Amino acid sequence: MKNIKLNNGLEMPQLGLGVWKADNGQEAINAIHWALDAGYRHIDTASIYKNEEAVGEALKTTKVPREDIWLTTKIWNEDIRKGRTTAALDEALARLQTDYVDLLLVHWPVDGYVAAWKEFEQALEAGKVRAIGVSNFMEEHLEDLLEHATVKPAVNQIEYHPYLVQADAISLCDMHDIAITAWSPLMQGNFKDEPLFGEIAKTYGKSPAQVILRWCLQNDIIVIPKSTNEGRIHENGDIFDFELSEEHMVAIDELERGHRFGPDPLD
Ligand code: NAD
Repeated sequence: MKNIKLNNGLEMPQLGLGVWKADNGQEAINAIHWALDAGYRHIDTASIYKNEEAVGEALKTTKVPREDIWLTTKIWNEDIRKGRTTAALDEALARLQTDYVDLLLVHWPVDGYVAAWKEFEQALEAGKVRAIGVSNFMEEHLEDLLEHATVKPAVNQIEYHPYLVQADAISLCDMHDIAITAWSPLMQGNFKDEPLFGEIAKTYGKSPAQVILRWCLQNDIIVIPKSTNEGRIHENGDIFDFELSEEHMVAIDELERGHRFGPDPLD
């Protein structure tokens, strides 16, 4: 497992398990246990995924100590709009059965995110979170937030995959040493329609999904592929024993077409 050093000095595991759409029960619990057994040390959830109870249960019942696991959750839009970030965080911590999360994100840049950020900074002071960051923040949101922030975001979690690299947002984050986490790195499963990944995968004796995740890693991006299937969880974790050539990196770079599978933060 490789870590990425954040601008606050913490080391964040570069591979995590995303649990969006995993059921709030045995499905999420099994997926997290399989991932931890396979060496993952990072779980990405959100209050809106409605599975924080199962995440908490999985973390309580694994043999892996809590302090060895990087746990990310996110505050949902309604709570940010209503100015109830601290209450929403306390509710999330109760569901997760933990005293702290490693990373708390503003899920989307909705009205009220500057006020929410003040509450994020207070949560950091209070030790309820170890790092604070944002998600789906484009340049205009980041510039605005940075004007008001005392603590810079450590991470911006954005949609990122070979069809969408969001170079402008990433270069602004690079300037401020804000790490990028890719959501939907596997294009929500749609990578199967792109033959190039299969062609490259054959050269390395790897799968198309592994090639895409490896391309993300080599671009210094944190990845949180989602699966609740044991075989795929193992497959997605087995990406640290090969390296894509410069030629293959460039060939994948050239697939960029500004195509989103998720919503546009500017809409
Ligand atoms: P993803 O790109 O990780 O794709 C997941 C889908 O790909 C799976 O449902 C499965 O159908 C398929 N898949 C996974 N592994 C595979 C494999 N090895 N071979 C073949 N098919 C495979 O999509 P995602 O769930 O949208 O994104 C990952 C995570 O990112 C989410 O679970 C969530 O944690 C996070 N996320 C965050 C935001 C945000 O706004 N911050 C938005 C979307 C997702």
